[in-house]
Amino acid sequence: MAKPYTIEIEEKWCKGCGLCAAICPKKVLELNDQAKCVAVHQDDCIGCRQCENICPDFAITVKEREPHVSD
Ligand code: SF4
Ligand code: SF4
Repeated sequence: MAKPYTIEIEEKWCKGCGLCAAICPKKVLELNDQAKCVAVHQDDCIGCRQCENICPDFAITVKEREPHVSD
């Protein structure tokens, strides 16, 4: 089974504040050299949604992957 969570990042909304990377307990998120948030370790995501909740610009959406349910 692949990644149970997918992290969608709306790059144009991300202002590079780094709050998401700082709060993520699994160190899934990092800022790239353009100061945009990137999910570098998406497989480690536990779906806690703290990143989604803390982002001031609503740039992050955490989606649960249901292997047997298609959307
Ligand atoms: S919290 Fe939001 S705006 Fe800040 S770096 Fe993360 S995705 Fe970008
Ligand atoms: S949902 Fe939780 S574990 Fe996953 S990237 Fe966001 S803060 Fe990290």
